Amino acid sequence: MNAYTSRVLEGLKTRNAHEPEFIQAATEILNSISPVFDKHPEYEAASLLERFVEPERVIIFRVPWIDDQGKAQVNRAYRVQYNSAIGPYKGGIRLHPSVNLGILKFLGMEQILKNSLTGLPIGGGKGGCDFDPKGKSDNEVMRFCQSFMTELFKYVGADTDVPAGDIGTGAREIGYMYGQYKRITGLYEGVLTGKGLTYGGSLGRKQATGYGLCYFVKNMLEANGKAIEGQTVLVSGSGNVAIYAAEKITEMGAKVVAMSDSNGYVYDANGINLAVVKQIKEVERGRIREYAARVPGSVYTEGCKGIWNIPCDIALPCATQNELDGEAANALVANGCYAVGEGANMPSTLEATEIFLQNDVLFAPGKAANAGGVATSALEMSQNSMRLSWSFEEVDEKLKGIMKGIFTQCAAAAKEYGDKPTNYVIGANIAGFLKVAEAMMAQGVV
Ligand code: NDP
Repeated sequence: MNAYTSRVLEGLKTRNAHEPEFIQAATEILNSISPVFDKHPEYEAASLLERFVEPERVIIFRVPWIDDQGKAQVNRAYRVQYNSAIGPYKGGIRLHPSVNLGILKFLGMEQILKNSLTGLPIGGGKGGCDFDPKGKSDNEVMRFCQSFMTELFKYVGADTDVPAGDIGTGAREIGYMYGQYKRITGLYEGVLTGKGLTYGGSLGRKQATGYGLCYFVKNMLEANGKAIEGQTVLVSGSGNVAIYAAEKITEMGAKVVAMSDSNGYVYDANGINLAVVKQIKEVERGRIREYAARVPGSVYTEGCKGIWNIPCDIALPCATQNELDGEAANALVANGCYAVGEGANMPSTLEATEIFLQNDVLFAPGKAANAGGVATSALEMSQNSMRLSWSFEEVDEKLKGIMKGIFTQCAAAAKEYGDKPTNYVIGANIAGFLKVAEAMMAQGVV
């Protein structure tokens, strides 16, 4: 790492010592983009990196709501408007008890580069709240979402900041938030993406992150003389990203043998029956353990980390950050896994990523591999602006093209700057960063 990048990283660590996930993401990104500053000394003179690592704005607010017992509850919510150099802020809303500012800053910084990689005009942002939708009634979720939007509406808009879903925020939550935004502002505009199909949502958005992940992995395997057909796959998580990654990779001819949630995982040697998973997770909002009770021959094991001990060819971590550590990475490598595609954001620890790269595992980093979701959100924005709807096939074709474009950019930057042409971590970080850096330079010190 060159002296400038190292100095900025040290300063960031000191100022944000209580935000480990943010430091982790920043360390990986700054390590990767360091060579850019050797080529561009003018960036240091403009304090470009100091500005890049600091969010343009962070909004923190309380969310009071009344539970079904009539008691007032209070949660803490955030919106991190990180970087608007290439477009309006864009990034999801996470509803999970673990949410804090450090986690949202890590997600926001990743989002800047991810959005840049899509080639679409969207800046980086992220938001969320420590509210847990799990176990709450629909009415409680609605009251929470309405209260949340009653504050957030002041800071978002179709041309300023366009939030979307993330962990805990699905179609139901987006619907309640959109209704409240419309009621307060009177505007029928594309302020949120991931909307329902009857009120401005895009066909293909629900599937986009998972499908996009598979398109990226397919491009990566083909570039390295391999194919998805006939391969055995592990998919962690059983939420939006996991379900549609499993669906597409199965369609491509692979066999998914395990899926999980935060309590444990199911193993099904015959291949996971996705209709059962969808019924449990999308319809009943149940637990993955129920799969074993419904599908003969499958086995449920308590504890989600054990999933990585199952032999596989391809692993798709699609649950949450740091779900795959060094021990899990070693187990995967020892069992013959040769490709990893990150559906979640930063699911692999720095140590795990290092192990994959050292062992020549083909590694698709989340900010590139899971960018299909936000890319399709941007397509939803376009459709809203144009007041029209594209067919599923049109959206899916565009998504395929975008994922191919992202892979091509990552591979080209890895070739130019990386220690090896398959270091897509360096490739994704540099390709994403260059466009943002150029826009920031052109816009002056702002
Ligand atoms: P969902 O809420 O739909 O699903 C999350 C899944 O991950 C659930 O199965 C959940 O299990 C599991 N999970 C959550 N927290 C943990 C934990 N601490 N340990 C183990 N498992 C956990 O979220 P998404 O599918 O939308 O998001 C998954 C990941 O993908 C996140 O990292 C998100 O940021 C990323 N992502 C999502 C995009 C999208 O379009 N939705 C776009 C790009 C990235 P449980 O039910 O037990 O909590």
